[in-house]
Amino acid sequence: MPQENNARKGGISVETEHLFPIIKKWLYSEKEIFLRELVSNAVDAVTKLKRLSSLGEYDAPDGETYRIDVSFDKTAKTLSISDNGIGMTEDELDRYICRVALSGALEFAEKYEGKGDEGGNGIIGHFGLGFYSAFMVSDEVEVITRSYTGAPAARLVCSEDGEYTVCTDGIERGRGTTVVLHVNADGEEFLSEWKLREVLKKYCAFMPVEIYLTDEEKADEKKEGEEPKEQKPENDIHPLWQKSAADCTEEEYKEFYQKVFSDYREPLFHLHLNADYPLNFKGILFFPKLRENYENLEGKIKLYYNQVFVADNIKEVIPEYLLMLRGVLDCPELPLNVSRSYLQNSAYVSKVSTYIVKKVADKLNSIFKDEREKYEKLWDDLRTFVEYACISDPKFLERVRPSILLPLESGKKVTLSEYLDGAKEKNAGTIYYTTDPELQAQYIEMYRSRGIEIAVLSGPLDVRFAETLEQSAKDEEKIKFLRVDADLSALGGGEEEENEKLAAYFTEAAGDGLKLTVKCRRLGEEDAPAVLTVSEESRRMEDMMRMYMPDTPASPKEATLALNLASPLIGKLAGEGDEKRAKEIASYLLMLAILSNRKFTAEEMKRFQKDSVSLLNDLL
Ligand code: ADP
Repeated sequence: MPQENNARKGGISVETEHLFPIIKKWLYSEKEIFLRELVSNAVDAVTKLKRLSSLGEYDAPDGETYRIDVSFDKTAKTLSISDNGIGMTEDELDRYICRVALSGALEFAEKYEGKGDEGGNGIIGHFGLGFYSAFMVSDEVEVITRSYTGAPAARLVCSEDGEYTVCTDGIERGRGTTVVLHVNADGEEFLSEWKLREVLKKYCAFMPVEIYLTDEEKADEKKEGEEPKEQKPENDIHPLWQKSAADCTEEEYKEFYQKVFSDYREPLFHLHLNADYPLNFKGILFFPKLRENYENLEGKIKLYYNQVFVADNIKEVIPEYLLMLRGVLDCPELPLNVSRSYLQNSAYVSKVSTYIVKKVADKLNSIFKDEREKYEKLWDDLRTFVEYACISDPKFLERVRPSILLPLESGKKVTLSEYLDGAKEKNAGTIYYTTDPELQAQYIEMYRSRGIEIAVLSGPLDVRFAETLEQSAKDEEKIKFLRVDADLSALGGGEEEENEKLAAYFTEAAGDGLKLTVKCRRLGEEDAPAVLTVSEESRRMEDMMRMYMPDTPASPKEATLALNLASPLIGKLAGEGDEKRAKEIASYLLMLAILSNRKFTAEEMKRFQKDSVSLLNDLL
């Protein structure tokens, strides 16, 4: 124990006696942050020394290695963070820790005493609370330090209630600083290798100075045994994003992704960002393979400040729709502890966000242009992401429009303009689509036989996306999406003809529940005798209603029935014959037309079964 005969005592003023309880309460929810704060102070101390050395103001010994040691002793209840950085003189200890850090804490307490719970992480460093965050987990903190200048080592002991003593007598240590936390009940969980490793992994995994973790009790035991094992640092001081893209291999990107995001799968592709002045940030974004269950759909974008982890998924820096991606961004221009409101109002942040959006769009365009085959394969995974992004942000849509693919029912994938080029003769400006290739098979067949391609829009966002494409198209390239059962005009068959007799049979069969418009046209003989259509507008309207009111019945109230005059059956029905019989057949044909269009309601199912049995009965 050092003699403390030259010790100076000090304390913080009376009105702040509640300071530490307030800070603790405020930061309670994120108390693990204390470790990030203390380790980043240690990193700063090393960085400053390296800088002095590079400026020639400090003569570093040959082969000098810089390191940070985090060690703990469960029995003694201590946790130490030690560095061999710049260190502090007694005077600096007094100035920086007792006064600077303390006055920050004071300012904090004055401003936030009695306020709600917003803040947390964002506030600590803002007020220079970095060092004092140690009190979230300890009652007493010691700082033992020696300046690179060779001035005598000094020791500070600071208690939770703000009392402190500083002395230099009898303190021995080499250059650097050790902060020893005398851990209290709130911090006991941190006296565990597993817990410390977890927190170091979260916040310090890429800090630029090697960090070693030691269980002091185990280390003592080992001394009696043989060779100690070579220690491995807890962090990677050269994260991949700091390298230039040209120096990174595919394998390295893959490994980095798998390690950082604990995903055994490979990412689809990556995007290495390196924005120069004035944005000045680096990062890597990964497009993950789409996961089946929704819960995992959320990606993760980790924000770093000079390799110190700040937070996940900061919506202010990355637009929400890009949060499906995974990646890391290192923004040294943002302060380590920034508040949300600062981010929301920062012109810098919005420029970063715009830059990222542009780069993501450019990346998609470049894969499309240079590696079409690969792009088509990736599309199934990219599609939901691209659609969501386009729906959310018209600028993104504008950028990637040339690279949007429509999967066709034939298995091909084409761009919008490729589809429209092929549609010039038969269906100029119109894209026909199906939302359910099985249910809508009869319709699809009619288009297919006429050489009209059908896009498959069966994904959850597809139809919303199609609407976005319609609305955003410039005048000269106006497009319209029509579902295969919306309108038969592209199928040919000449002018529509009136036939009052047939119209009467079918409207009667439809009953009061369905307002049926009957139109006759001459489709091919092999086409269905009666085809039901519901206009695109009213169907979309109903689909939307159903989104808000899921109980809305799936049977539309208005529809058009196209009777195919080329079908022999309709021919017979139009001719002379037993009227009662004709009505039964009309009713049955209407049910068949409905069946090809959508699922029956329970009532319709009963009616159809009854009619079928009765017709079979008549056949015998
Ligand atoms: P901040 O880091 O935000 O300035 P802190 O309360 O964490 O506030 O620290 C106050 C000051 O104490 C630092 O700016 C630094 O000058 C000094 N300091 C803290 N930790 C160390 C350390 N490990 N080595 C040298 N100086 C340190």
